[in-house]
Amino acid sequence: MNFELTDIQKEIQQTFRNFSDNRIKPQAMEIDINKSFPHQLFKEIGDLGFFGMRYPEEVGGTGLDIVSYSLAVIELSRGSLSVAAACTMQSLMGTYFLYRFGNDEIIKNYFSEAIKGNKIGGICMTEPNAGSDLMNIKTTAKVLEDGFLLNGQKTWVTSAPVADFFTVLARTDNHEQLSIFFVPTDLQGVLIGKSIEKMGVRASITSEVGFNDVFLPKNYLLGNIGEGTKCLKEILAEIRIMTAALAIGVAVAAYEEALEYAKTRVQFGKPIGKFQAVQMKIADMAVQIEMAKKYLMYAAYLSDNNLPRQKEAMIAKLYCSEMSVNVCDEASRVLASYGYAVEYNIERYLRDSRFTLIGGGTSEILKINIAKELGL
Ligand SMILES: Cc1cc2nc3c(=O)[nH]c(=O)nc-3n(C[C@H](O)[C@H](O)[C@H](O)COP(=O)(O)OP(=O)(O)OC[C@H]3O[C@@H](n4cnc5c(N)ncnc54)[C@H](O)[C@@H]3O)c2cc1C
Repeated sequence: MNFELTDIQKEIQQTFRNFSDNRIKPQAMEIDINKSFPHQLFKEIGDLGFFGMRYPEEVGGTGLDIVSYSLAVIELSRGSLSVAAACTMQSLMGTYFLYRFGNDEIIKNYFSEAIKGNKIGGICMTEPNAGSDLMNIKTTAKVLEDGFLLNGQKTWVTSAPVADFFTVLARTDNHEQLSIFFVPTDLQGVLIGKSIEKMGVRASITSEVGFNDVFLPKNYLLGNIGEGTKCLKEILAEIRIMTAALAIGVAVAAYEEALEYAKTRVQFGKPIGKFQAVQMKIADMAVQIEMAKKYLMYAAYLSDNNLPRQKEAMIAKLYCSEMSVNVCDEASRVLASYGYAVEYNIERYLRDSRFTLIGGGTSEILKINIAKELGL
């Protein structure tokens, strides 16, 4: 295993770093305060090729590896976790099942447009009574002669208020297991609720979605009936690696600002970074971020090389998300009252970082599953 990035990986990292510094960071506070979906940035990130990074060239993507993708995600999240969350939804869960199972019409009119950033996709799995426990999903797809009739209530759907299409997890009346459906949002009976007011990632807008007798033609079933959970497992490790990268990005942003502040804030006649108590905090943050990055790269390397990686992806997601909240919290202590002020970025980083504890599996669920992998 080689820890040196390739020239292409370095170039991708630099491209997204520049974009983050020049385009995302200057707007990050404003879009958070306005709780507005960043349409313009989203389109520009599409133009950079981000949404197609994980798809082959034949379908308009660039077929890049997960290491490259993770490097880009870290940089986007360093600029704004809201922007990065909306964009990773589009580039992974929002489009993956269309790519895998969509017919020509779905690929041409939706998938291809989505990876250019011209259409927006979301995934509807969670329901009011089914979060971690996805097998308790109640949304139904009644099997008809010529298609399906979809009914149910979803919640916490990222990008729903601006989405053109969804991938929906539902239960058919002829199978115990779940199935996946493609649902354009302009179909009759698709009801988008108002945005959920959130603690963080406020510019990644999220809402409830209702399906009221939505008719779906047969070819809107993605994959086979009853194989939804099996298909989800195909990208589970990648989702977790991606969430770990999101967590690292916001932690890096908090660390960089705390480091700068420690060098410039003067108390008792010297920069606070000259006090050992502050030095310990900054050093601890740097160590945790460095460890997180290296482990993330290890999990991504396993995935790129098609090696067993479920446990490692869970460890990466668990460690990086807990690290992220910790680093953002420590950074806010370094800035003290200014870390509490809305006109500084740190309070946003701290609020945003908590999202990474939830998406891709909560810490508790991950620990249970890691224990299972360990034979318990
Ligand atoms: C900003 C944001 C965006 C989101 N976007 C999407 C999206 O686009 N699409 C989508 O489908 N969903 C989305 N979600 C939902 C997310 O996937 C769920 O919130 C997540 O699965 C957890 O479910 P829950 O919140 O219902 O928590 P619950 O499952 O109710 O868990 C509550 C608590 O109980 C613990 N717990 C649950 N079961 C166990 C157990 N067996 N053992 C021990 N502890 C347990 C959990 O760890 C947690 O601490 C989003 C959530 C957020 C916050």
